[in-house]
Amino acid sequence: MISSSTAQLHGGSRPNHFKVALQSQTSTAASTALASQRKPNAPGSPLARKPLPGSAPRASEEPSEDELALTLVEQPRAPKQFHLGMFEIGRPLGKGKFGRVYLARERTSGFICALKVLHKNELQHGGVERQVRREIEIQSNLRHPNILQMFGHFHDSKRVFLILEFAGKGELYKHLRRENRFPEWKAAQYIAQMASALRYLHRKHVIHRDIKPENILVGIHGELKVSDFGWSVHAPNNRRKTMCGTLDYLPPEMINPGSSENYYNEKVDLWSLGVLTYEFLVGEAPFEDTPVMTQRRIRRADMSIPSFVSPEASDLIKKLLVLNPEKRIALEQVQVHPWILKHCVKGERAANREKYSQ
Ligand code: AMP
Repeated sequence: MISSSTAQLHGGSRPNHFKVALQSQTSTAASTALASQRKPNAPGSPLARKPLPGSAPRASEEPSEDELALTLVEQPRAPKQFHLGMFEIGRPLGKGKFGRVYLARERTSGFICALKVLHKNELQHGGVERQVRREIEIQSNLRHPNILQMFGHFHDSKRVFLILEFAGKGELYKHLRRENRFPEWKAAQYIAQMASALRYLHRKHVIHRDIKPENILVGIHGELKVSDFGWSVHAPNNRRKTMCGTLDYLPPEMINPGSSENYYNEKVDLWSLGVLTYEFLVGEAPFEDTPVMTQRRIRRADMSIPSFVSPEASDLIKKLLVLNPEKRIALEQVQVHPWILKHCVKGERAANREKYSQ
């Protein structure tokens, strides 16, 4: 699907192409979308939570009476075929290496989502078609409150469109840079959410392999949403090396693999969770250094935890950043670690455990 087009676009003028293409196909899209921001069905409102027609309901949300009635009337139905004309396109939400993301609204339901637009020729030139295909396959089958949901995808001759859950509070990375470091209560709640998301992924035999603040979004209620499944499960993770030279989150077994099996061991995500915990609390990654020194320090788990970090949090970091992948603390143990228990509401944890234990 993604490889079908060899249409040439001129790289330098890509942003304009996007705008023109989107505007021409949605006619009054921009103005209608702007107007919609003032209507009561903005993100976070009851209408914004209505499921997108044709997409599976979230595991976390009970259908309303209206939705149930609709489901009964419409059953059985064929999977919905999405196309660009179904969406009003709103403001740009951000720009990634291969595309742009726009706020969007499905016309008939008023459902607010994020529409990611990828150009096929850029995916081809970047050699990432397989990666995107894998990302779609994996992400569209996941349902968890702390994992960014992919509701569907469609394409035209030049572009691939991903219909994503809208994360109203943007990138976690920006929150962290703004706050410098998170207070312990917030870091603990975030790590509990990450542990819940990773447990869910690992139960489904999905290894994320690229857990870092840049790949986590924040929902409208402040909840974390793991995104970017481009490196999950398959090839060795060398994106940090090629894209921005950052090795900070790479586990020792991926730097110096004794066996290629290590790449496929879900315990790589536990190491990254340890790095994440440290960065949340300290404001920088534990092995940040020159590239050569970072690798050397990761191989030795050579880090020091500042004294302002509580003993409980230090204990969890040390139990995650263990060189031997088999000796890292298990996610179930992370969820009941004293630092997590101290800062998380018991009822919430119990509810999540029950919902996502199978
Ligand atoms: P990406 O190409 O996935 O790296 O996305 C580029 C940027 O768009 C991100 O850094 C976010 O700022 C923004 N973005 C992507 N997806 C979403 C989303 N689902 N909700 C809100 N903002 C998003």
